[in-house]
Amino acid sequence: MSKVFVVDSTKQPLNPVHPGRARLLLKHGKAAVCRHCPFTIILKRAVEQPTLHPLRIKVDPGSKTTGIALVNDESSEMVWAAELTHRGQQIKRDLGKRRAARRNRRQRKTRYRAPRFQNRRKRKGKLSPSLESRICNVVTWVCRLMRLCPITAISQELARFDTQALEQPASQSVEYQHGQLSGYEVKEYLLLKWNYQCAYCDGSSVPLELDHISPRSRNGSNRVSNLTLACTPCNQRKGNRDVREFLQDDPARLARILAHLKAPLRDAAAVNATRWELNTRLKALGLPVEGGSGGLTKYNRVMRGLDKTHWLDAANVGRSTPASLIIKDIVPWHIMATGHGSRLMCRMDKYGFPRTGPKQHKRVHGFQTGDLVRAVVTSGTKQGTYVGKVAVRTRGSFNITTAQGLVTDIHHRFCVLIARSDGYSYQQRKEAALPPTA
Ligand SMILES: [Zn+2]
Repeated sequence: MSKVFVVDSTKQPLNPVHPGRARLLLKHGKAAVCRHCPFTIILKRAVEQPTLHPLRIKVDPGSKTTGIALVNDESSEMVWAAELTHRGQQIKRDLGKRRAARRNRRQRKTRYRAPRFQNRRKRKGKLSPSLESRICNVVTWVCRLMRLCPITAISQELARFDTQALEQPASQSVEYQHGQLSGYEVKEYLLLKWNYQCAYCDGSSVPLELDHISPRSRNGSNRVSNLTLACTPCNQRKGNRDVREFLQDDPARLARILAHLKAPLRDAAAVNATRWELNTRLKALGLPVEGGSGGLTKYNRVMRGLDKTHWLDAANVGRSTPASLIIKDIVPWHIMATGHGSRLMCRMDKYGFPRTGPKQHKRVHGFQTGDLVRAVVTSGTKQGTYVGKVAVRTRGSFNITTAQGLVTDIHHRFCVLIARSDGYSYQQRKEAALPPTA
C-alpha cells in the first residue's frame, strides 16, 4: 500500500505513515479521517517542531496521462504514486459543440444582427483551453500534495531529449560521453526527427534501429547528422553500403533523406510549449524545480529494471533519482479529471434548439453529482451497502456508480456524504505485476 498522509490539528503536514500505523491511530481515537482521496488522517493534537523527512515530488507530464511520484531522496524510498488522467479531448469536443450551436443560432433567419467578427483578442502566450486544463490539473495536484506532506523539491520532465548533450558531447560528464545515456538521448532525438518511421520503407510501428548513412566501416561518424532510423530488414539489406549506393534506384527518396539529414530539428518539435509553461508555474510555487529530459528518464528506468508505466516514469525523472529506488507495495492512485459539470443552461437537440427546460439546481437534497456517498439500504429489492459516486436526480432517487457497477434509484434518505465532489474521480487498483525492487 502507498503510505497514508498525516496532518496535525493545525493542518501542518507531517511525515506520511504506514497504513497499519494510521489504522492504530484511528482505532485509539488519536486521529480522524481528514480526506478519503488521497487518504489523509488528521491528528487530534498539534505537533510542535516535528522532525520532517523531506520529500521530492516528481512529475512526468503527458498529453493524456501525467505520472506523479513522491520520493524520499535520503532513504531512496517511494512514498506515494498516482496517474492523473486529463480531460483535454473532452474539453475540445465540448467547445466544438458549443461553437457549432452558436454558429447555427447566428445563421438562423430571426432578426438582423450586426456582423461581429475579429472582436476577440488573444492574450500573447495564451494556451488553448484543453492545454490550459492539463497544466492546471498538474499544478492543482502539486499544491494539494504540498498541503498534505513535507515536500521540499520538484522534479519535472521538461524536454524529450537533452539538446545540449547532443550538440556538445565533449562538455558533458563521463556518463554522457562513454555510458549508454547519450544513446538514449540520441534515439529519442532521431525518433522525433524521422517521425517514428523507417527512412527507407516508411514503415512505422516496427522496431527501429540506428542506421549510419555513411557506414562506420567506411569511417562514417557517430554524430547525429550521420544517423537515421531503419527497420531491421532495411538495415540488413543496406549492410555496409553508403546510402548513395544503396538508394541509386530511388533518387527521389535519396534526395529527400539527404535534405532531411541536413535540416536541424525545428524548435517547435523539440520544445513543448505546455511543458515550459508548466515549468514556469511550478517555479512560481517557491520550491526548487529540477528539469530532466525524456532520454534521461528512460535511461534511469531501464537501468533500474522497471516497467514502463506513467508513475514509474515519473519516479525516474531527473538526475536526483536515487541509485536504487525502493518501490515496495506501492499501489498507484488512478485520478481522473472529471470537471465540475456543464455550463449548458438546457439540453439541445441536433439542430441546436432547446430540448429540455432550464437546468435545475445543481444540489438536490444536499447532494451534488460527483459526490462520494455511502448508501445503506435496509429494505426492498435494493437491500445492501453501496459506496461510490452519486448522480443526483431532482425526483430524489439517485444513481450510484460503485466499483461493482451502476446501482439505480437509491432514495436520498439512505445516502450519507463521504466526500464532496472536487472535480476528480479516484480509483486505486493493483497493477498486473509489480516491478522487482532493485
Ligand atoms: Zn524499412
